Parts: sequence; structure tokens; C-alpha cells
Amino acid sequence: MASSTADFTAVAVRPATEEELSRVHDPRFLESLDKLRGRSTYIDADTFVSPESVDVARLAAGSLVAMVDAMIYGPVGRGIGLLRPPGHHAGPARAMGFCLLNNVAVAAAHARARGLERVAVVDWDVHHGNGTQDIFYRDPHVLYVSTHQFPFYPGTGGSDEVGEGDGTGFTVNIPLAAGGGDAVYAGAFQRIVLPILEAYAPQLILVSAGFDASARDPLAQMEVSADAFGWMARELARVADRSGDGRIAVVLEGGYDLGAIETGVRSAIDGALLGRAADVTAIGHDEALDRAARCAHRSWPTVG
Ligand SMILES: [Zn+2]
Repeated sequence: MASSTADFTAVAVRPATEEELSRVHDPRFLESLDKLRGRSTYIDADTFVSPESVDVARLAAGSLVAMVDAMIYGPVGRGIGLLRPPGHHAGPARAMGFCLLNNVAVAAAHARARGLERVAVVDWDVHHGNGTQDIFYRDPHVLYVSTHQFPFYPGTGGSDEVGEGDGTGFTVNIPLAAGGGDAVYAGAFQRIVLPILEAYAPQLILVSAGFDASARDPLAQMEVSADAFGWMARELARVADRSGDGRIAVVLEGGYDLGAIETGVRSAIDGALLGRAADVTAIGHDEALDRAARCAHRSWPTVG
């Protein structure tokens, strides 16, 4: 779905093409995935495919590409992608952590191919999006910013992982201690995420929106409320309005409590698409945030 004002417009579902996928994935990896069509097997301990999985993954990535086109050329400026399977652990040449194809990375690369110079991926899934980070680690045209429980699966995402070469500073990791809730996330956004986005002025914001940082999620130990997801979405939409013609897409990643996904998605739609959210108060002091802010300050002087 996508939205112009309060009216929703459905974007037609279609599979991603080889060209679209090969902007971020190795062709040999895509061939190996294709061979799993029609089969049931484990790719790794977490990542199971059923006979339809590969086709569904292609539909997820392709539909997000179609939504990006609808956002660049009209008729919509803001969108929500309710996709399965998720994507942010999928790297250039491997499926991992329930993810087959990296939907958000495919969409970001597509926006670049359409001529956008600055695309931001904001990843609030409770896990670090190691796949997205790997794909754009040397690329200053795609800013990757992630909040995540740390240490935690998949093990990456320390604040010292900041990108390489021309991409130095364009990967921003904000690892958070288990147990953090709304105030910690609001602190991360106010101190680090939002000032960096204001400075970067993205022409498109893609949100890797997992809802597994929810207090109700069974896999992780963060304590985020549905209201806080809405607040984060609204704050990002405000940056998009100031810097990028209002283009923002909220894209589903992980989440393992169906009720938490339902309330979180609802709240994120209200925040990102309609600009409605309850206010959340940021924490005054947090050790993990202080560390991440010091690290980010080296590349982004407005981060305090
Ligand atoms: Zn996750």
C-alpha cells in the first residue's frame, strides 16, 4: 500500500527483475536461490524455505521497487510495505536470519538507479541489519543508520563500524543495552538519528521497520511501546518533509508477536503517513547512547 494524503493507493505486486536484484546481490547467489524453487529445505539454522518462498521473496522485493517508482514519479509520496519474507540480514551473496533477498537494499539501489543522490535507510528492527550494512558499507550515497539490542544476533553493529573508504561515516550504528524502552529510543533519535538525517538531507527515507523491539516480542529484550514506533515514524516523516519532498517508506522487517506487529504497524502508519503520534520523552543520560554519540560525532559534528 501507499498513501498520498489520508487515502490509500494499492501498488500492484510484481516480482523483482534480475537487473533490479543484481544491483545488490551476486548473480551466482541469485542462481543458487532459484534452484531452491519448489523445494523445502534449510539454508541455515534459522532460514527455512518452502516451495513458494523464493517466488514470494521476489514478489516482496519487486513490489517495493514498484512502490519506490510510485514515490518518485507519483502518485504517492509516502508508503508502507507489508512484506514477507523480511530482508535486512540478506547480504550480497547469502541468505540469513529468515531473510532471502534484501528488500530495502534492492529498493535503495533502485532509487539510486533512478537518479536519487542521497537515500537513507533507518533500521529500527531490534537486530542489526548486517546485510544492508555490508551492501552499502563503501557507499556515501546510501546512509545506513541502525538502532539495535547489543550484544545480540547477528553479532555485528558496534558503534565503531562506520563504513569504509568513501563510505566512512555513512554507516551509523547505535547499539543499545537490553531492557531499553521508549525513552532510550527517543534519546537515540533526538541525539543521533535525527541530527544526522537533517545534515544528510535524504531524498528518500526507507525505514527497516521491525517490530521485535516491542516489549511483547518473545525473541528480544527491549521494551518499546506501539506509541513509540509511531513517534519515531512521525519524526522521520518530518525530516523527509524538510529534505526529501516528503518521501518515506515504512517497510516490514522482523517481529515475532502478531499483536505487537499489528499495533506497531498501525502506529507507524499514523506517524509516517498521517503525521499523527503521541509525544515520547527522551532519556536524559544513557551510557550506550553516550558512546554511540561520541562515535557518530566524528563524522557528524551536530551530534552531541
Ligand atoms: Zn529483527
